Formats: sequence, structure tokens, C-alpha cells
Amino acid sequence: MFNLILFGPPGSGKGTQSIKIAEKYGLIHISTGDIFRNEIKQQTELGVKFKSIVEKGELVPDELIIDILDSSLHKHQNINGFVFDGFPRTLNQSGELDNLLKKDNESVSLVLALDVDDNEVVTRLLKRAQIEGRKDDTEDIIKNRLQVYKDQTYPLIDLYKKQNKFVGIKGIGSIDQIFDNICSKIDKK
Ligand code: AMP
Repeated sequence: MFNLILFGPPGSGKGTQSIKIAEKYGLIHISTGDIFRNEIKQQTELGVKFKSIVEKGELVPDELIIDILDSSLHKHQNINGFVFDGFPRTLNQSGELDNLLKKDNESVSLVLALDVDDNEVVTRLLKRAQIEGRKDDTEDIIKNRLQVYKDQTYPLIDLYKKQNKFVGIKGIGSIDQIFDNICSKIDKK
């Protein structure tokens, strides 16, 4: 299996690129953010419980994410692999992902990180707010999400660099240019 993690700050284009990658390489796209937004929209027990955390741009507790992921991974059989979008976001989550994959004799194949600076992220997300109306796309919450990313998710970069799995990608340019760049890194693997 080919298991790709697509990494990057909020607004770096992870969602858009993950969908394109999943389609081209026949991978299953797993977006933990989409899973939560869906639970919130459907007002499930989980959605009601974690609505305020997600809307403030904080991370939901690791244990919960791991349970959700475990059931998402095992829904699928005979597949080429996964694109993880928005997961893992903490060192603990990355360890748990390794454990889950190991149970099936699998591992993380490649970690691609979209690099976009803070000003560009804020501009993009404020624009998205006008189109999609996401509750966590206000200026204060965007800044909080960026801070959470730096505090809790940045340490993963070093971890995956040490494992020789990390490749940075310039996240500025057209969607197709960035996608071509991503594909060339995947094809080299
Ligand atoms: P995203 O669409 O990936 O930016 O995720 C939106 C929100 O969902 C985040 O700000 C968190 O509140 C929650 N979330 C998504 N993925 C995770 C994760 N791996 N760990 C904890 N919280 C998450």
C-alpha cells in the first residue's frame, strides 16, 4: 500500500490537493476535519460534544481522533492506500498512526508538506469564509489555528525528516502547478 500524509497549515490547499491525489492514484482520502464537520452538521453526539472545540480552532482530544481513524481505516479492504489530510497533528497521533498501520504490516510511505506563509494563509481563508462560511474561518480563529499548528504539529516535521520520509512542496502557484509538483515527488517514491 502507498500511505501518504499531506501536511501543511490551514489554508495551504491540503483538502483540494488530497482529493486530486486520491483520484489519480486510486487512494482513499481521509480528512479528519471533514469527519468532524460532518458530525457537527448531523448533530451527532460526537458533533455536539466537540462543536465548540472545532469552531475555536483547537484540536479535539487525541484518543477520540484515534478511535475515529481506526474505524475509518478498517472500513476499507483491498485498497491501494490512503491520503491522510489533517492527520496526524500531534506526535502522539503520529505514533498511534504507526501502530494502527503496523497491525496490517503497513507504514507511512511519504509525507508531503505544503509550504505557505502566514499572510497568504490568512488572505486565502478569509476569502474561503465568504464562499463556504466555515465557522472557523474568522481572522482571530485563523490566527489561533496557525498557532496551534506551530505549537502542536510542527514537531512532526522533524520526526518525519529523521525517518527520511519528509518532502517540502512550495504551496504557492496554481492548483495544477502544485499538483504536478506533488505527483513528481510521489512518482519518484
Ligand atoms: P481541518 O479541516 O483539517 O483544518 O480541521 C478542522 C478542525 O477539526 C481542526 O481545527 C480541529 O478542531 C479538528 N481536527 C481535524 N483533524 C484533527 C486532528 N487530527 N486532531 C485534532 N483535531 C482535529
